[in-house]
Amino acid sequence: MSLIRPAVLPDELAAGYEGRILRFNGLSSRAEALPLLLQQFFPVGTRVCDVPFVELLAHVAGMQTARFVQAHTILPLKRAFTKLHPGTEHGSPSHPKLLELVAMRALRPGAYLCRRCVDEDLGFHGIAYWRRDHQRPGVFTCSKHGLVLNHTKDSDAFLNSPAAYTGDEFTIDPDWASRVIDSDIVRRFHAICAECMVRTQSIDEVYAARAIRDRAKALDLHPGRGLRTKQLLSSFVRDQLDEAWIGSTLPELSMQPADTPWAPIDAAVLGKRCGITSVVYALILASLFESCDEAINTVLAKPSTLRRSYAPSTQPMVPEAKLRESYSDERGRHASVARALGRPYHEVRDRLLAIGLPDLSRVRPNELVQLVSAMTSAHGVDERMEVFARADRASLNVLQRALAPLMQTLKKVDRSARGRRRGPRTKPSSPPLPVSEDSPSVA
Ligand SMILES: [Zn+2]
Repeated sequence: MSLIRPAVLPDELAAGYEGRILRFNGLSSRAEALPLLLQQFFPVGTRVCDVPFVELLAHVAGMQTARFVQAHTILPLKRAFTKLHPGTEHGSPSHPKLLELVAMRALRPGAYLCRRCVDEDLGFHGIAYWRRDHQRPGVFTCSKHGLVLNHTKDSDAFLNSPAAYTGDEFTIDPDWASRVIDSDIVRRFHAICAECMVRTQSIDEVYAARAIRDRAKALDLHPGRGLRTKQLLSSFVRDQLDEAWIGSTLPELSMQPADTPWAPIDAAVLGKRCGITSVVYALILASLFESCDEAINTVLAKPSTLRRSYAPSTQPMVPEAKLRESYSDERGRHASVARALGRPYHEVRDRLLAIGLPDLSRVRPNELVQLVSAMTSAHGVDERMEVFARADRASLNVLQRALAPLMQTLKKVDRSARGRRRGPRTKPSSPPLPVSEDSPSVA
């Protein structure tokens, strides 16, 4: 069967494009379409689990997967701020699992459309389609026509034409919609989300977190830990928003009692990478900064207070012998070694730890000598236990870090030895391949 390949339309949502492909080809479900799509674009034997579905859609559209993901999915917003492969191009085929799990997933339930857009698309393209821009969190009016959107809870809506949902029964209350969009913070939130949607790469979450921490500090908000005498960031955000808008966009926040900490926002003040969603980051930035440009520029500025591990050095590596020599000269203090060698602290720390040389700045070297002596000398077991029982926690932690590289190596050795002991597998790990009837039989 030859596949009909409709052209993907401007800002068309990938899930809606899937619906059009199915309808054009008389297919009832994705399960029915998958073998056909694989057969059309991939070599025989390619399995469904080998190819992210969004990649199949990109093939139908005749586009590179990354370009298709950036122009037709919500993924650029979902992954706008992330600690998982930051800096990777959105839709990169180097992370197929990520594409499979994230690219086609919606950011809010149901489906949204503008009736005027539907009319215009029918007139211009001869067909109506689901626009990606209307599916963003917090969007309740069309940015082009200013009209309130229609909304349906039908979970299969994207498989149908939006023209099926243009009746009055699907219309959002226009008074409510005009009220909730009429605030500066919501406008900034939409501008930040729109900026994220056109970016081709995600931003390291650590930059957003640090920008938020510094700004919250400048605004004299609660620092995230300790006795609470100042306003919480979550309260600061909430005070600027309409409760109905919060309820529709961040329902978990609206269910939270007023003036109580809400971790997804208040944890951001600590300047840590906390796995906060990109939508929450966008909202926090919208509340703290005067404009979208100021917020994005601050996040991208990579302030000097950031850990420099995120800006790799271009200088040649210090030889290991030199590193060990400096470690001895500086009495095991990582920061001093970094200063003496003129290298970034994080780089020196990571390399010293990798060769079993922990930071000794908070322990007494003589106590460590006693501990190591107890392990290596001919003392009896009781004497050794006594030395360890007397040791303080800091010294034991340092010893643990020093032994970490050895432990990693021992685990590998152990795994390798167990593999050899087990011998060759007697059972195949996967079902035997079918044998052609023409193949000679084995006696
Ligand atoms: Zn419209």
